[in-house]
Amino acid sequence: MNYMILLVHMIFGAAVGYTTYNLTDNLFLAVILAWLAHYFLDIFPHIEYLESAETSITNLQQHGLKRQLEDVVKVVADFFLGLLFIYMFSSREPMLYFFGLVSIIPDGVTVIYTLRPFPFLAKHQEFHAAIQYLTKYKKPKAPIEMGAQPADNSILFNALVSFPVSILTQVAAVIASVLLLSS
Ligand SMILES: [Zn+2]
Repeated sequence: MNYMILLVHMIFGAAVGYTTYNLTDNLFLAVILAWLAHYFLDIFPHIEYLESAETSITNLQQHGLKRQLEDVVKVVADFFLGLLFIYMFSSREPMLYFFGLVSIIPDGVTVIYTLRPFPFLAKHQEFHAAIQYLTKYKKPKAPIEMGAQPADNSILFNALVSFPVSILTQVAAVIASVLLLSS
C-alpha cells in the first residue's frame, strides 16, 4: 500500500468539495464527497514517490529519522505543495483547505494502521490497498497482502498502467480540479 501524491488528492478533494457545496449548499455532503474523491483517484494508475508508506514508516521506526529523512522531506513538501496549489488556483476560502485535508484522511488512516494496527481499521486498510491494483501491478514483488495481486497480462492493461499513463492521470486530475475551482 503506497501513497498517491498528496497534492493531487488535496486539490482534487478541494475541487470536489467546492463544486458539491456550490451546487447543493450542503456542507456535510461536500465533506463526504471530498473524502470519497480520494478512493476514486486511487483507482486510476498513478505515480508514487515512496516505495511504500508502510516500508517508510517501518524503516522510520527501526532506523530513526536520519536514514529516512528523504522520505519525510518528500511527504512534507508534497503536503505543502498541496496547500500551495489550493492557494494558487482557488478563491482561498478556508473551507477549501478543509476539503483538501479531508481528502487525505484515507492516507492518514493507513499511516495510523501501520503504526498501530487497530482491528477496526483492518477492513479500511484492505479496501484502500485493493482499489489501487492498477498501480500495484507495476510492483509484482510487493507482498500479496499489500494488494499486489497479479493482474492479467493484456497489451491494453500494460499500456494502461505504463508510466506515461500514470503521469497523465495525475495531470488530468489537477487540470480538472483547477477548472472546477476557478468556475
Ligand atoms: Zn490512497
